[in-house]
Amino acid sequence: MNLIFLGAPGAGKGTQSTVVAEKMNIPHISTGDIFRYNIKNQTELGKKANEYISKGELVPDELTVSIVTDRLMQDDCKNGFALDGFPRTIPQAEALEKFLAEHGKKIDNALNIQVDENILVERLSNRRFCPKCNGTFHMIENKLTEEICPVCGAELKQRDDDKEEVILQRLQEYHKSTEPLIDFYRSRNVLTDVPPIIGMEKAIAATLKVLGIE
Ligand code: ADP
Ligand code: ZN
Repeated sequence: MNLIFLGAPGAGKGTQSTVVAEKMNIPHISTGDIFRYNIKNQTELGKKANEYISKGELVPDELTVSIVTDRLMQDDCKNGFALDGFPRTIPQAEALEKFLAEHGKKIDNALNIQVDENILVERLSNRRFCPKCNGTFHMIENKLTEEICPVCGAELKQRDDDKEEVILQRLQEYHKSTEPLIDFYRSRNVLTDVPPIIGMEKAIAATLKVLGIE
């Protein structure tokens, strides 16, 4: 199945799409992860992307589209893929649609991971990640009293773009550029709303049910 995960920053689409991709045995493709990997390794792409990401702005469409289409050409995508954080603009969605059509494919389902807007800033500003095992945690939800990874014991870090000023910019960017994709995919008859559910496990169960898995 060819899947897209839509949702505001902090909606939980990263966690959801990772679990779904694993269950369905399809690659999980996150543009945010690809950019962060390149930033960490100081590649040319990373340097360019970071100019935008550090300000909470979107990386330009042309660059982003070429990264994703290159990735989708790889062999492991032939039985499906879960796109997380792409497309994020109408031009990206149109470019993806054209690319897929040229390869005889289409999007089967665009999952709109809904979230209660009030909790987003709190959730993002309390988010931490583990540089060692790559886990994502929430200081309050995971009841952490110190910034230490509960899985492997490494020191937890905060994403630079999870600082409050940048969070607000990302949310604005979401409403302006990304939210219109909900209607775009609805008009293609592939949109499925996943209503806001408190608690990651229950939320994941709801998504799997929508997809008819388990
Ligand atoms: P989140 O959904 O929590 O904001 P992501 O990891 O998906 O986090 O994205 C982090 C940042 O990477 C975004 O704020 C944006 O700057 C950049 N980015 C990711 N995906 C795209 C995309 N499809 N188009 C443009 N910029 C992107
Ligand atoms: Zn860890």
